[in-house]
Formats: sequence, structure tokens, C-alpha cells
Amino acid sequence: MDIKSGFIGAIGNTPLIRLNSFSDETGCEILGKAEFLNPGGSVKDRAALYIIQDAEAKGLLKPGGTVVEGTAGNTGIGLTHICNAKGYKCLIVIPETQSQEKIDLLRTLGAEVRTVPAVPYKDPNNYVKLSGRIASEMENAIWANQFDNLANRQAHYETTGPEIWTQTDGNVDAWVAATGTGGTYAGVALFLKEKKAEIQCVLADPMGSGLYSYVKTGEPKAEGSSITEGIGNSRVTANMQGAPADDAIQIDDTEAVRMVYQLLEKDGLFMGGSVGINVGAAIALAKRIGPGHTIVTVLCDGGSRYQSKLFNSDWLTAKGLLPA
Ligand code: PMP
Repeated sequence: MDIKSGFIGAIGNTPLIRLNSFSDETGCEILGKAEFLNPGGSVKDRAALYIIQDAEAKGLLKPGGTVVEGTAGNTGIGLTHICNAKGYKCLIVIPETQSQEKIDLLRTLGAEVRTVPAVPYKDPNNYVKLSGRIASEMENAIWANQFDNLANRQAHYETTGPEIWTQTDGNVDAWVAATGTGGTYAGVALFLKEKKAEIQCVLADPMGSGLYSYVKTGEPKAEGSSITEGIGNSRVTANMQGAPADDAIQIDDTEAVRMVYQLLEKDGLFMGGSVGINVGAAIALAKRIGPGHTIVTVLCDGGSRYQSKLFNSDWLTAKGLLPA
């Protein structure tokens, strides 16, 4: 018998998928950790679970309590599913620039959702800071604080990293991923480096994020912008601090969109925009290090969360991103 106990029991142990068209093109094994197959549909189910379990273990989250979080959507979705399964309430603060699909889904799941204007982190009304303030003003509530709560990267250090190691029998040459909070990238990188120091850990970054320049120069500096959601950061979060990074690769939206459409049309994989950045960086790395290597990245979430944007030709045309 192989039966998972409820929503929570079904988190993790996702397949590692060979991205056939890109692997054949580059001569490298390009492997994607299929996080879109988590029960809440994204890589963030793992962090959401660890954050809630950590708060319970510390006695911070009590029966009938509320979990408050600022999120681009996926963490909120994971948290709300878990709160439902455990009898907690969930209050989500999300920038209004995020896809309507994620906002609608959060409401369907039962979260109290507050959409707010997207303003930079330094602004006191930034969605992350606002969520922290709301939590501190409520009775029996915790702030998940995914960006600086190390339970987030611990989830990936204890589960995603070891799964990748076992699934490849340790035959990994490189790990490449974009970061939002840094939890996935850092947790996996820290685990893999401990196992085998020669594994190259490469940060993928969209335009408009400061992390590429952080890895290259030590200073986060951002230029441009990206249509991708959930990744990129103007600051180095607690989850990113101390994460090994041998290199960084910046991928623009044109390339990310091309990747997502090739995955759909040639591999049958319907993926969100951050996957385009991840796979774009994996391909760039494959070209740099040459054939015969195994490169692992993350398939963070599925395309249905971005149907109205990334998969809408009018929207893509308006952004000047419609693929040929
Ligand atoms: N891709 C998507 C679609 C996401 O929602 C997120 C999380 N914000 C990430 C990638 C990055 O994950 P992490 O927060 O672990 O860096």
C-alpha cells in the first residue's frame, strides 16, 4: 500500500522529468523537478508546510489561529490549503499585478485576500511589510514571513535537495534556479554542496531583479523588468544569505517565453513563466559547460495560473513578446 495522509501527506516526492527537447538539443541531461505536481500546484507547498509546522512546534500557532502572509500567490495557495486541512484561517496580502487566476484561486480556497498596489520593498506599504503589520495587530495570528523565515529553506534542504540527490544517484553536475524568497535555490544548493562540493550552483535571474548583480559583484542592483511572477528580488533575504552561488545567469522575457512555448509544443509540459527563466538559464549553462553534463532545475508551477497573460496572444502582443 502507498497511501498519503491527506493534502499534507501528498506534498513532496515529485518526479524528476527529463526535458527531452532541450536535452536532445544541448547534449546535456536537462532535468526538471516537477514541483507543479505538488497537491497545491507549486513548489511553495513545501515551504508553507514547514513554516506552519515550525510555528506549531514553537507554540506560536494555536487552534483557531490565523496565518497571515504577503505572497505573489503560490505561497498563499499552499498556506491556505494547509490551513484548511488543519483548521486555521488564512489572510493573504498580494500585489494587484499578480495573475487574476492566482487571486481567484486564493478566494475560492477560502483565504481572506487583500490586493494592494505593487510598491518597492522600501515603501512601508509594500505587500510583505503590510502583511507583517497586519499579523502583529491581530489576536492569535502568525506572520509566515517566507522571505526571512528559515523554515522555508529548511524544507528544501530536508526534502527537495535529498530527493534530487536520490533520483539522480548523485549524478548531478549543476543546479540552477531562480529565486523569489531564495528558499528553493538556497536549500537545495546547501544540501547538494554538502554532498558533492563540485556541483555548480547557478542562480537564474529575471530582468529587474538585483540578484544577478549580487552574485556577480556582491551588491544587489536591478535594471529592467520582467513579466514573470514569484521570482526576482531587490534584496538579499535571510533565506538567500550564505547560499552557495558559483555563478548567475540573467534571462530576459523573450527567451523565457520561447522556453515556455517550446516546453508546451515539443515536450507537452504546460508551465508558468518562472520555469521559462529556469530552463533558459539551464540551456545557457549547458552551452557554457558543454555536452555530457546533468543539469537540474525546477518546474515551479503550471501554465494554467497564467492563462490570461503568458498564454493570451493579445496580452503577449501588447508586451511585444508574442513568439513567432
Ligand atoms: N516560481 C514561482 C512561480 C513562484 O511562485 C516562486 C515563489 N515565489 C518561485 C518560483 C521561487 O521560489 P522561492 O520562493 O523558493 O525562491
